[in-house]
Amino acid sequence: MYINCSEREQFILKKISNAAKELGVPAFLIGGFVRDKIIKRPTKDADIVCLGDGIELANKVAERFSPKPAVAFFKNFGTAQIKLPDFEVEFVGARKESYRSDSRNPEVEPGTIEDDQNRRDFTINALAISLNEQGYGELVDPFNGLSDLAAKIIRTPLEPSQTFSDDPLRMLRAIRFAAQLNFTIEESTFNSIAENAERIKIISQERITDEFNKIMLCNKPSVGLDLLYKSGLLKLIFPQMVDLAGAQYIDGKGHKDNFYHTLQVIDNIAVNTKDLWLRWAALLHDIGKPATKRFEEGHGWTFHGHEVVGAKMVPKIFAKLKLPQHECMRFVQKLVALHLRPISLTKENITDSAVRRLLFDAGEDIDALMFLCNADITSKNRQKVKRYLENFQLVKQHMEEVETSDQLRNWQPPVTGEMIMQTFDLPPGRKVGLIKDAIREAILDGIIPNNYNAAHAFMLQKGRELDLHPVE
Ligand code: ATP
Ligand code: MG
Repeated sequence: MYINCSEREQFILKKISNAAKELGVPAFLIGGFVRDKIIKRPTKDADIVCLGDGIELANKVAERFSPKPAVAFFKNFGTAQIKLPDFEVEFVGARKESYRSDSRNPEVEPGTIEDDQNRRDFTINALAISLNEQGYGELVDPFNGLSDLAAKIIRTPLEPSQTFSDDPLRMLRAIRFAAQLNFTIEESTFNSIAENAERIKIISQERITDEFNKIMLCNKPSVGLDLLYKSGLLKLIFPQMVDLAGAQYIDGKGHKDNFYHTLQVIDNIAVNTKDLWLRWAALLHDIGKPATKRFEEGHGWTFHGHEVVGAKMVPKIFAKLKLPQHECMRFVQKLVALHLRPISLTKENITDSAVRRLLFDAGEDIDALMFLCNADITSKNRQKVKRYLENFQLVKQHMEEVETSDQLRNWQPPVTGEMIMQTFDLPPGRKVGLIKDAIREAILDGIIPNNYNAAHAFMLQKGRELDLHPVE
């Protein structure tokens, strides 16, 4: 075998080879599996292309395993999938495709292995390995994918504008692979992406967002995001991000380029977390800046309230990008809204009460918020970054102290509305709310400790002020 497979993989491939032989259809391993084996990335699934009926081959292969795995198939596409406990295999018949300009659904007819390799997106994804008796394990590489793989180059097998115009999703895939594999997009391929960018409009939002999220999950998301920006794709799929770009100058005073600042923040946070939504919070933390930008005479540039405006933009952006609307969205929104709070605590003489309020408002997301704020400390001036990080460390310490003494994370009121109603024999209403809020504020301000006895006594006192009397 040209590639290095585990024993288990070899066992599975042999079965596929035998089944193909029995049917008399040549079969090949192709695409991501071959690519990833050569560059020693982990693999979990394989694609098989055969010169015949992919569904029939899948069924023949399944019969050779016991217990026999289910075969999922899609008659319209002529593809089938077998899920083994530790491995997935996709089957497809080799095909020749021709596209019309208004759709990404091609007219398809059976083809040769070369036809099939022609319709692949990149030379590195068109590498095939023969599973036929003659030449078993040999590499079939008509486009020099192997040398592109060695040189770390993304290049289309055909003339790039044909590949991209046939299926514009490939433009995003090019950028995603460049970011995931740390490859360079060959110049004419990249220029063609810039020329064809508008064609992305025929791709469904779900597919676009899927690729975008893969870019967000790369080790260094800035690589892909910057390529999206420079190719003009970002302007089309996520214009609010592009509005962050550039620095304006008045009276010789400029502000930082918020687009590149944001990319830096995402890269910083990516070092510490693989969590997609925390990365999204980093991406959107300053999204309200363009709308709030002002130049104040004698003062310079300000972005007052950008965290509030930004948080309001989050649901619209999530809806447009068809991202989940519930917990994930609320988490991102909350972090955007709160992202200035921990930093503001480095600037003043910090009271316990300010720390307590932050712990209360952030609740269980306090650690995520602190990650974000840490990542948000960027500057070209190393001294400045160092000073900020040191101050920030003090805030963290202070938070830990307040937390151990007051236990405010996931705070539950020590005296509930229910108890207030029972104590004063009150129906639900304004007075119950007043007392409840007063107790919470007293705890947050440090007037009373966070426990039942103190809160109960405080409730009785508040009741008296409102002319209420405890029953019994
Ligand atoms: P990964 O699984 O890591 O995303 P992959 O290369 O395996 O990478 P898949 O989407 O699983 O990508 O597709 C498998 C193969 O199918 C690719 O390697 C490529 O040869 C081909 N392919 C997938 N999508 C396209 C496309 N839009 N245009 C052309 N070929 C494609
Ligand atoms: Mg794959």
